[in-house]
Amino acid sequence: MDQIIKKVVVVGGGFAGINLIKKLTNDEHFQVTLVDTHNYHFFPPLLYQVATAFIEPSNISYPFRRMFQEKKNLRFHLGCFIRINQQNNSIETDTGVLEYDYLVIALGTETNFFGMENVKKHALPMKTISDALNLRNYLLLSMEKAVREQDRAVREKYINIVIAGGGPTGVEIAGMLAEMGHNIRVKEYPEITDLQGHIYLVDAGPVLLGPMSVKAQVEATQVLRKLGVKIMSNTAVKDYVDGQVILADGRVIESNVLIWASGVTGREVPGLPAEVVGRGRRIQVDEFNKVKGTSNIYAIGDISLQTTDSKFPQGHPQLAQVAIQQGALLAANLQRTLRGEPLKQFSYHDKGSMAIISKYKAVADLPNLFFKGFFAWIVWLFIHIIPIAGFRNKVKLAFSWLWSFMTNDPTLRLIIRPNTDEFK
Ligand SMILES: Cc1cc2nc3c(=O)[nH]c(=O)nc-3n(C[C@H](O)[C@H](O)[C@H](O)COP(=O)(O)OP(=O)(O)OC[C@H]3O[C@@H](n4cnc5c(N)ncnc54)[C@H](O)[C@@H]3O)c2cc1C
Repeated sequence: MDQIIKKVVVVGGGFAGINLIKKLTNDEHFQVTLVDTHNYHFFPPLLYQVATAFIEPSNISYPFRRMFQEKKNLRFHLGCFIRINQQNNSIETDTGVLEYDYLVIALGTETNFFGMENVKKHALPMKTISDALNLRNYLLLSMEKAVREQDRAVREKYINIVIAGGGPTGVEIAGMLAEMGHNIRVKEYPEITDLQGHIYLVDAGPVLLGPMSVKAQVEATQVLRKLGVKIMSNTAVKDYVDGQVILADGRVIESNVLIWASGVTGREVPGLPAEVVGRGRRIQVDEFNKVKGTSNIYAIGDISLQTTDSKFPQGHPQLAQVAIQQGALLAANLQRTLRGEPLKQFSYHDKGSMAIISKYKAVADLPNLFFKGFFAWIVWLFIHIIPIAGFRNKVKLAFSWLWSFMTNDPTLRLIIRPNTDEFK
């Protein structure tokens, strides 16, 4: 009898897609093709360190083709997903058509600007490596502009930074920028030491780190306040015009830099019926991550909305661990399907969550245990270095951290990719 070989097309090589592919590596029953717009996998939890010039983008990214080298059943297709054609089991990308037996949608999410066009146009999101590099350039260019500016009020506007979103990303970037303000601005920008810039952390909700424990929220608030971050809770951003961040209560913050860490929404997946798209534009799936109403299309990770897990009836949080666990389970279930074995339904094993707040300070919410401070910070470092793809990257990252923390002086403050003429 001929051996069965199933064509699996995975769209998106983030945590979900890559963990599925890893499990199918060298399984001769599957020919797997990964489609991604980037030619590398990257690690979003450390993006803010790229944006603040603390580590290099290559420390947290790894090329798919290198990952797949010498893996007979894995192929990479660089391209942007366009639509699914369910009738003939194929997808369209901007670089060609691919046929599948099983399709796995692992496209993740995109930044949600909540319909605010000016914010979308002028704020700086933090979702991809390009976003992080863009933000890094923008921050450095703003400082250069402040140095040249004669008008004091305008200079202040260039060094004010507004961060919208008090979740882990907003908190982490606020802490990092505040530390850098103390350690680097004074040394490297002597022209503006007479001026006090401000970091504003604005959130529509009542507390920072909303999904974490009250202890974590209190600790984050106290540490950031000590660092001089101005925390504005219960405050929504309404518009961003001419360098003015306009708040819903009518107040205005003059700032040339609005960092948008305020929310995400599922990516669009043309070719699926409208009724499978649920809250947050996530795709509704059953307990095995199969898209409702389909027979061979699956969605995993941030883009999926699964309400069958009794502990998470509203759907899972959009976190790396959910994506990793769903990817691995779906791979095992595809293998079970071929063997004719019963499938396992998904149940999220919550390992807890952490956030770094500043140098030597973090918070950790583990199931039934909270800890903070230096110990939490060390644990955070270890936890974030382990999943980084590539041994060389782990070593480089460990060295970068050690050097930067010892010297208070990361050396990557290079403006290497200005993508706007307005600063010239
Ligand atoms: C700044 C930041 C910090 C975070 N910090 C944490 C944290 O500390 N802890 C935690 O648990 N979670 C964190 N998260 C969330 C975590 O990164 C996500 O839950 C996780 O990445 C979801 O994995 P995914 O595979 O579903 O999607 P993603 O990792 O987003 O992967 C989606 C993939 O799809 C590709 N793609 C997108 N559009 C297309 C297209 N049209 N065609 C082809 N390919 C496409 C992308 O290039 C990407 O490779 C953070 C997220 C961000 C943005």
